[in-house]
Amino acid sequence: MDRSHDEREVYCRMLGHVLAFRYCRAMQEGLPCSRILDCWFELMDIRTFVAENYTRQELRRIFAPSPSRLDTICEVVNRLRRQEQESTDEPAGPEDG
Ligand code: SF4
Repeated sequence: MDRSHDEREVYCRMLGHVLAFRYCRAMQEGLPCSRILDCWFELMDIRTFVAENYTRQELRRIFAPSPSRLDTICEVVNRLRRQEQESTDEPAGPEDG
């Protein structure tokens, strides 16, 4: 890992204050913030940094689109349907019958 840029600073529009690069490159469970390319392109060669310091698999995780609101709602509805189906499929207990 190249740590030579760690002390550089940028104003973070997401958090509303100045941050050091070391935070931006590790804030997602050790992986960079998904906005790192947008925030740092004017200050350093961020594309090269990212390409040289992360694997393809890590890059997919870093820049994976977050699930849309509709996807999240559908997931919750499907989970509730499954739970409802499972509760109606359960056999009656001795006290029920
Ligand atoms: S990369 Fe993320 S954490 Fe860093 S300044 Fe940009 S939005 Fe903020």
